[in-house]
Amino acid sequence: MTTLPTMDVGSRIARLRSTFEVAEIDALLVTRLPNVAYLTGFTGSAGVVLVTPGDAVLVTDGRYAQQSTEQLAHAGVTARVEIASTPAAQQAALTTSPIGTRLGLEAHGVTWAQQRTYSEWFTAETLVPTEHLVEGLRAVKEAGEVARIKAACDIADESLAAVLPRLKEGITERAFALALEWEMRGRGATKTSFDTIVASGPNGAKPHARPTDRVIGEGELVVIDFGCVVDGYCSDMTRTVSVGDPGADARKVWDVVAASQRAGRDAVRAGIECKSVDLASRAVIDDAGWGEAFAHGTGHGVGLEIHEAPRVSATADATLEAGHVVTVEPGVYLPGIGGVRIEDTVVVTSDGAEALTEFPKSLVI
Ligand code: ZN
Ligand code: ZN
Repeated sequence: MTTLPTMDVGSRIARLRSTFEVAEIDALLVTRLPNVAYLTGFTGSAGVVLVTPGDAVLVTDGRYAQQSTEQLAHAGVTARVEIASTPAAQQAALTTSPIGTRLGLEAHGVTWAQQRTYSEWFTAETLVPTEHLVEGLRAVKEAGEVARIKAACDIADESLAAVLPRLKEGITERAFALALEWEMRGRGATKTSFDTIVASGPNGAKPHARPTDRVIGEGELVVIDFGCVVDGYCSDMTRTVSVGDPGADARKVWDVVAASQRAGRDAVRAGIECKSVDLASRAVIDDAGWGEAFAHGTGHGVGLEIHEAPRVSATADATLEAGHVVTVEPGVYLPGIGGVRIEDTVVVTSDGAEALTEFPKSLVI
Protein backbone atom coordinates (compact mmCIF):
# COMPACT_ATOMS: atom_id res chain seq x y z
CA MET A 1 0.00 0.00 0.00
CA THR A 2 1.20 3.50 -0.80
CA THR A 3 2.15 5.79 2.08
CA LEU A 4 -0.75 7.87 3.29
CA PRO A 5 -0.29 11.65 3.51
CA THR A 6 -0.47 13.23 6.96
CA MET A 7 -3.68 14.88 8.10
CA ASP A 8 -4.11 18.16 9.94
CA VAL A 9 -5.79 16.67 13.01
CA GLY A 10 -4.25 19.26 15.31
CA SER A 11 -6.38 22.15 14.02
CA ARG A 12 -9.75 20.43 14.39
CA ILE A 13 -10.45 21.33 18.02
CA ALA A 14 -9.94 25.02 17.23
CA ARG A 15 -12.28 24.70 14.24
CA LEU A 16 -14.85 23.06 16.50
CA ARG A 17 -14.56 25.95 18.99
CA SER A 18 -15.38 28.39 16.20
CA THR A 19 -18.86 26.78 15.92
CA PHE A 20 -19.70 27.40 19.58
CA GLU A 21 -20.97 30.96 19.21
CA VAL A 22 -23.65 30.07 16.67
CA ALA A 23 -24.58 26.98 18.72
CA GLU A 24 -24.83 29.24 21.80
CA ILE A 25 -22.54 27.11 23.95
CA ASP A 26 -19.33 27.77 25.85
CA ALA A 27 -18.06 24.20 25.77
CA LEU A 28 -18.90 20.84 24.18
CA LEU A 29 -18.69 17.36 25.65
CA VAL A 30 -17.95 15.11 22.67
CA THR A 31 -19.15 11.56 23.34
CA ARG A 32 -19.65 10.00 19.90
CA LEU A 33 -16.55 7.87 19.29
CA PRO A 34 -16.08 8.75 15.59
CA ASN A 35 -16.10 12.40 16.66
CA VAL A 36 -13.57 11.69 19.41
CA ALA A 37 -11.37 9.99 16.80
CA TYR A 38 -11.75 12.89 14.38
CA LEU A 39 -10.77 15.51 16.94
CA THR A 40 -7.89 13.66 18.59
CA GLY A 41 -6.77 10.65 16.54
CA PHE A 42 -7.70 8.41 19.50
CA THR A 43 -9.39 5.21 18.32
CA GLY A 44 -10.11 3.36 21.57
CA SER A 45 -13.55 1.99 22.41
CA ALA A 46 -14.14 4.33 25.37
CA GLY A 47 -13.37 8.00 25.77
CA VAL A 48 -14.88 11.47 25.72
CA VAL A 49 -13.42 14.85 24.82
CA LEU A 50 -14.36 18.03 26.66
CA VAL A 51 -13.61 21.15 24.64
CA THR A 52 -13.83 24.33 26.73
CA PRO A 53 -12.88 27.89 25.76
CA GLY A 54 -9.33 27.45 27.00
CA ASP A 55 -8.75 23.72 27.30
CA ALA A 56 -9.33 20.35 25.70
CA VAL A 57 -9.14 17.08 27.59
CA LEU A 58 -9.55 13.46 26.49
CA VAL A 59 -10.81 11.29 29.33
CA THR A 60 -10.41 7.55 28.86
CA ASP A 61 -9.74 4.55 31.08
CA GLY A 62 -6.69 2.55 32.15
CA ARG A 63 -6.82 0.19 29.18
CA TYR A 64 -5.92 3.08 26.92
CA ALA A 65 -3.33 4.94 29.02
CA GLN A 66 -0.46 4.27 26.62
CA GLN A 67 -2.44 4.15 23.37
CA SER A 68 -4.22 7.47 23.96
CA THR A 69 -1.01 9.39 24.65
CA GLU A 70 0.72 7.83 21.65
CA GLN A 71 -2.17 8.48 19.28
CA LEU A 72 -2.61 12.13 20.28
CA ALA A 73 1.12 12.74 19.93
CA HIS A 74 1.18 10.99 16.55
CA ALA A 75 -1.76 13.11 15.35
CA GLY A 76 -0.13 16.33 16.57
CA VAL A 77 -2.97 17.05 19.00
CA THR A 78 -2.15 19.08 22.10
CA ALA A 79 -5.20 18.11 24.20
CA ARG A 80 -4.53 16.81 27.72
CA VAL A 81 -5.15 13.14 28.48
CA GLU A 82 -6.71 12.10 31.79
CA ILE A 83 -6.99 8.44 32.73
CA ALA A 84 -10.07 7.83 34.85
CA SER A 85 -11.55 4.40 35.39
CA THR A 86 -14.41 5.16 37.80
CA PRO A 87 -17.37 7.53 37.40
CA ALA A 88 -16.09 9.68 40.28
CA ALA A 89 -12.66 9.98 38.67
CA GLN A 90 -14.26 10.79 35.31
CA GLN A 91 -16.36 13.52 36.87
CA ALA A 92 -13.27 14.98 38.55
CA ALA A 93 -11.31 14.89 35.30
CA LEU A 94 -14.07 16.67 33.40
CA THR A 95 -14.65 19.41 35.96
CA THR A 96 -11.11 20.60 36.64
CA SER A 97 -11.04 23.49 34.17
CA PRO A 98 -13.64 26.28 33.76
CA ILE A 99 -16.47 25.28 31.41
CA GLY A 100 -18.53 28.47 31.22
CA THR A 101 -22.26 28.54 31.73
CA ARG A 102 -23.59 26.54 28.78
CA LEU A 103 -22.24 23.03 28.14
CA GLY A 104 -23.29 21.39 24.88
CA LEU A 105 -24.00 17.67 24.66
CA GLU A 106 -24.28 15.74 21.41
CA ALA A 107 -28.03 15.14 21.23
CA HIS A 108 -27.62 12.16 18.87
CA GLY A 109 -24.88 10.51 20.90
CA VAL A 110 -26.05 10.68 24.50
CA THR A 111 -28.32 8.07 26.04
CA TRP A 112 -31.00 8.98 28.54
CA ALA A 113 -28.89 7.38 31.28
CA GLN A 114 -25.82 9.44 30.30
CA GLN A 115 -27.84 12.64 30.21
CA ARG A 116 -28.99 11.95 33.78
CA THR A 117 -25.40 11.31 34.88
CA TYR A 118 -24.11 14.48 33.23
CA SER A 119 -26.88 16.56 34.83
CA GLU A 120 -25.60 15.32 38.20
CA TRP A 121 -21.94 15.98 37.32
CA PHE A 122 -22.36 19.44 35.81
CA THR A 123 -24.63 21.12 38.35
CA ALA A 124 -23.20 24.61 37.80
CA GLU A 125 -23.75 24.54 34.03
CA THR A 126 -26.80 24.48 31.80
CA LEU A 127 -26.77 21.41 29.54
CA VAL A 128 -27.61 22.29 25.94
CA PRO A 129 -28.52 19.75 23.24
CA THR A 130 -26.45 20.34 20.08
CA GLU A 131 -26.89 18.88 16.60
CA HIS A 132 -24.01 17.51 14.55
CA LEU A 133 -21.38 20.15 15.32
CA VAL A 134 -18.45 17.76 14.78
CA GLU A 135 -20.28 15.89 12.01
CA GLY A 136 -20.64 19.21 10.19
CA LEU A 137 -16.86 19.65 10.20
CA ARG A 138 -16.33 16.02 9.22
CA ALA A 139 -18.53 16.29 6.13
CA VAL A 140 -15.92 18.32 4.23
CA LYS A 141 -12.84 16.16 3.82
CA GLU A 142 -9.30 17.40 3.69
CA ALA A 143 -6.90 15.90 1.13
CA GLY A 144 -5.46 13.39 3.61
CA GLU A 145 -8.93 12.06 4.38
CA VAL A 146 -9.81 11.71 0.69
CA ALA A 147 -6.50 9.86 0.19
CA ARG A 148 -7.51 7.33 2.88
CA ILE A 149 -10.98 6.82 1.39
CA LYS A 150 -9.38 6.43 -2.03
CA ALA A 151 -6.94 3.84 -0.66
CA ALA A 152 -9.89 1.88 0.76
CA CYS A 153 -11.73 2.19 -2.58
CA ASP A 154 -8.66 0.97 -4.48
CA ILE A 155 -8.40 -2.09 -2.24
CA ALA A 156 -12.10 -2.80 -2.83
CA ASP A 157 -11.64 -2.44 -6.62
CA GLU A 158 -8.63 -4.80 -6.65
CA SER A 159 -10.31 -7.31 -4.38
CA LEU A 160 -13.43 -7.54 -6.53
CA ALA A 161 -11.26 -8.04 -9.61
CA ALA A 162 -9.45 -10.86 -7.82
CA VAL A 163 -12.54 -12.77 -6.70
CA LEU A 164 -15.12 -12.06 -9.42
CA PRO A 165 -14.01 -15.04 -11.58
CA ARG A 166 -14.95 -17.33 -8.68
CA LEU A 167 -18.64 -16.57 -9.30
CA LYS A 168 -18.38 -19.02 -12.21
CA GLU A 169 -17.47 -21.91 -9.89
CA GLY A 170 -20.89 -22.32 -8.34
CA ILE A 171 -19.90 -20.58 -5.12
CA THR A 172 -22.29 -19.69 -2.27
CA GLU A 173 -23.08 -16.10 -1.36
CA ARG A 174 -21.37 -16.60 1.99
CA ALA A 175 -18.18 -18.08 0.51
CA PHE A 176 -17.98 -15.30 -2.06
CA ALA A 177 -18.40 -12.64 0.63
CA LEU A 178 -15.69 -14.27 2.73
CA ALA A 179 -13.33 -14.43 -0.27
CA LEU A 180 -13.88 -10.74 -0.91
CA GLU A 181 -13.22 -9.87 2.74
CA TRP A 182 -10.08 -12.05 2.77
CA GLU A 183 -8.73 -10.22 -0.28
CA MET A 184 -9.39 -6.82 1.28
CA ARG A 185 -7.69 -7.75 4.55
CA GLY A 186 -4.74 -9.18 2.64
CA ARG A 187 -4.34 -5.90 0.79
CA GLY A 188 -4.09 -3.86 3.99
CA ALA A 189 -7.67 -3.11 5.03
CA THR A 190 -8.19 -3.20 8.80
CA LYS A 191 -11.76 -4.48 8.51
CA THR A 192 -14.86 -4.30 6.37
CA SER A 193 -16.67 -0.98 6.50
CA PHE A 194 -20.02 -2.79 6.99
CA ASP A 195 -21.40 -6.32 6.68
CA THR A 196 -20.73 -7.43 3.10
CA ILE A 197 -23.85 -7.91 0.98
CA VAL A 198 -23.84 -10.67 -1.64
CA ALA A 199 -27.42 -11.23 -2.77
CA SER A 200 -28.19 -13.54 -5.69
CA GLY A 201 -31.40 -14.24 -7.57
CA PRO A 202 -34.52 -13.45 -5.49
CA ASN A 203 -32.35 -12.46 -2.49
CA GLY A 204 -31.31 -9.37 -4.47
CA ALA A 205 -34.80 -7.94 -3.97
CA LYS A 206 -33.85 -7.20 -0.34
CA PRO A 207 -31.59 -4.12 -0.44
CA HIS A 208 -29.73 -5.16 2.72
CA ALA A 209 -29.77 -8.93 2.32
CA ARG A 210 -27.18 -10.94 4.26
CA PRO A 211 -25.11 -13.59 2.44
CA THR A 212 -26.63 -17.06 2.71
CA ASP A 213 -25.57 -20.60 1.78
CA ARG A 214 -27.42 -20.21 -1.50
CA VAL A 215 -25.28 -21.28 -4.48
CA ILE A 216 -25.10 -18.48 -7.04
CA GLY A 217 -26.45 -19.81 -10.32
CA GLU A 218 -25.78 -18.95 -13.95
CA GLY A 219 -27.89 -16.19 -15.45
CA GLU A 220 -28.78 -14.78 -12.01
CA LEU A 221 -28.36 -11.17 -10.95
CA VAL A 222 -25.91 -10.85 -8.03
CA VAL A 223 -25.83 -7.64 -5.99
CA ILE A 224 -22.40 -7.18 -4.38
CA ASP A 225 -22.23 -4.24 -1.95
CA PHE A 226 -19.08 -4.05 0.13
CA GLY A 227 -16.26 -1.91 1.41
CA CYS A 228 -13.30 -1.77 3.72
CA VAL A 229 -11.54 0.54 6.16
CA VAL A 230 -8.07 2.06 5.75
CA ASP A 231 -6.69 4.08 8.68
CA GLY A 232 -10.23 4.63 9.97
CA TYR A 233 -11.78 5.68 6.65
CA CYS A 234 -14.45 3.67 4.79
CA SER A 235 -15.10 2.75 1.17
CA ASP A 236 -18.48 1.80 -0.29
CA MET A 237 -19.26 0.29 -3.70
CA THR A 238 -21.96 -1.87 -5.29
CA ARG A 239 -21.83 -3.78 -8.52
CA THR A 240 -24.57 -6.03 -9.92
CA VAL A 241 -23.34 -8.79 -12.21
CA SER A 242 -24.49 -12.02 -13.80
CA VAL A 243 -22.61 -15.13 -14.81
CA GLY A 244 -23.79 -15.37 -18.40
CA ASP A 245 -26.83 -13.67 -19.88
CA PRO A 246 -29.55 -13.02 -17.29
CA GLY A 247 -32.23 -12.47 -19.96
CA ALA A 248 -33.88 -9.46 -21.54
CA ASP A 249 -35.95 -8.40 -18.49
CA ALA A 250 -32.96 -8.37 -16.15
CA ARG A 251 -30.83 -6.58 -18.74
CA LYS A 252 -33.49 -3.88 -19.01
CA VAL A 253 -33.56 -3.31 -15.23
CA TRP A 254 -29.76 -3.20 -15.15
CA ASP A 255 -29.62 -0.69 -18.03
CA VAL A 256 -32.12 1.60 -16.30
CA VAL A 257 -30.28 1.48 -12.97
CA ALA A 258 -26.95 2.10 -14.74
CA ALA A 259 -28.45 5.13 -16.52
CA SER A 260 -29.92 6.36 -13.23
CA GLN A 261 -26.56 6.01 -11.51
CA ARG A 262 -24.84 7.92 -14.32
CA ALA A 263 -27.46 10.67 -14.14
CA GLY A 264 -26.93 11.01 -10.39
CA ARG A 265 -23.16 11.05 -10.74
CA ASP A 266 -23.33 13.62 -13.54
CA ALA A 267 -25.49 15.85 -11.31
CA VAL A 268 -22.96 15.89 -8.47
CA ARG A 269 -21.01 19.15 -8.14
CA ALA A 270 -20.40 21.79 -5.48
CA GLY A 271 -23.41 24.05 -5.06
CA ILE A 272 -26.13 21.58 -6.05
CA GLU A 273 -28.74 20.59 -3.48
CA CYS A 274 -28.52 16.96 -2.38
CA LYS A 275 -32.20 16.53 -3.20
CA SER A 276 -31.49 17.55 -6.83
CA VAL A 277 -28.95 14.72 -7.16
CA ASP A 278 -31.55 12.34 -5.76
CA LEU A 279 -34.09 13.68 -8.22
CA ALA A 280 -31.71 13.24 -11.17
CA SER A 281 -31.21 9.56 -10.33
CA ARG A 282 -34.83 8.97 -9.39
CA ALA A 283 -36.27 10.52 -12.56
CA VAL A 284 -34.63 7.85 -14.75
CA ILE A 285 -36.14 5.03 -12.69
CA ASP A 286 -39.51 6.80 -12.44
CA ASP A 287 -39.62 7.19 -16.23
CA ALA A 288 -39.04 3.46 -16.64
CA GLY A 289 -42.01 2.77 -14.37
CA TRP A 290 -40.09 1.36 -11.41
CA GLY A 291 -40.26 4.37 -9.11
CA GLU A 292 -41.97 2.35 -6.38
CA ALA A 293 -39.19 -0.25 -6.57
CA PHE A 294 -36.49 2.33 -5.65
CA ALA A 295 -37.34 2.59 -1.97
CA HIS A 296 -34.26 4.24 -0.51
CA GLY A 297 -32.28 7.45 -0.81
CA THR A 298 -29.78 7.87 -3.63
CA GLY A 299 -26.72 8.15 -1.41
CA HIS A 300 -24.94 9.19 1.74
CA GLY A 301 -21.71 10.69 2.96
CA VAL A 302 -18.76 8.36 3.62
CA GLY A 303 -15.80 8.95 5.91
CA LEU A 304 -14.94 7.74 9.39
CA GLU A 305 -18.44 6.26 9.37
CA ILE A 306 -20.01 4.34 6.50
CA HIS A 307 -23.12 6.52 6.71
CA GLU A 308 -22.51 10.15 7.58
CA ALA A 309 -23.40 13.65 6.44
CA PRO A 310 -24.51 14.68 3.92
CA ARG A 311 -27.45 12.45 3.01
CA VAL A 312 -28.44 12.42 -0.65
CA SER A 313 -32.19 11.92 -0.60
CA ALA A 314 -35.48 13.54 -1.59
CA THR A 315 -35.88 14.99 1.92
CA ALA A 316 -32.27 16.11 2.48
CA ASP A 317 -31.83 19.85 2.93
CA ALA A 318 -28.03 20.07 2.52
CA THR A 319 -26.14 21.49 -0.45
CA LEU A 320 -23.06 19.70 -1.75
CA GLU A 321 -19.70 21.36 -1.15
CA ALA A 322 -16.26 20.66 -2.60
CA GLY A 323 -14.67 18.03 -0.39
CA HIS A 324 -17.88 16.20 0.45
CA VAL A 325 -17.55 12.47 -0.23
CA VAL A 326 -20.86 10.84 -1.11
CA THR A 327 -22.22 7.71 -2.71
CA VAL A 328 -24.59 7.53 -5.66
CA GLU A 329 -26.44 4.23 -5.44
CA PRO A 330 -29.84 3.91 -7.02
CA GLY A 331 -31.48 0.48 -7.14
CA VAL A 332 -34.55 -1.37 -8.33
CA TYR A 333 -35.86 -4.25 -6.22
CA LEU A 334 -38.51 -6.61 -7.55
CA PRO A 335 -39.81 -9.05 -4.89
CA GLY A 336 -39.60 -12.68 -5.99
CA ILE A 337 -37.40 -11.77 -8.96
CA GLY A 338 -34.28 -9.94 -7.80
CA GLY A 339 -32.59 -6.60 -7.63
CA VAL A 340 -30.06 -4.31 -9.22
CA ARG A 341 -28.03 -1.65 -7.41
CA ILE A 342 -24.99 0.20 -8.74
CA GLU A 343 -22.99 2.41 -6.40
CA ASP A 344 -19.91 4.57 -6.56
CA THR A 345 -18.24 6.68 -3.91
CA VAL A 346 -17.28 10.08 -5.33
CA VAL A 347 -15.60 13.22 -4.06
CA VAL A 348 -17.36 16.48 -4.88
CA THR A 349 -15.32 19.09 -6.75
CA SER A 350 -16.11 22.67 -7.74
CA ASP A 351 -17.28 21.62 -11.20
CA GLY A 352 -18.28 17.98 -10.81
CA ALA A 353 -17.23 14.82 -9.07
CA GLU A 354 -14.28 12.48 -9.15
CA ALA A 355 -15.00 8.77 -8.78
CA LEU A 356 -13.08 7.08 -5.96
CA THR A 357 -14.45 3.62 -6.76
CA GLU A 358 -13.43 2.81 -10.30
CA PHE A 359 -14.28 -0.84 -10.86
CA PRO A 360 -15.82 -1.18 -14.36
CA LYS A 361 -19.59 -1.51 -14.58
CA SER A 362 -20.65 -4.38 -16.75
CA LEU A 363 -23.51 -6.78 -16.23
CA VAL A 364 -22.28 -10.01 -17.76
CA ILE A 365 -19.08 -11.69 -16.59
ZN1 ZN B 1 -22.85 0.22 -0.40
ZN1 ZN C 1 -23.80 3.06 0.37
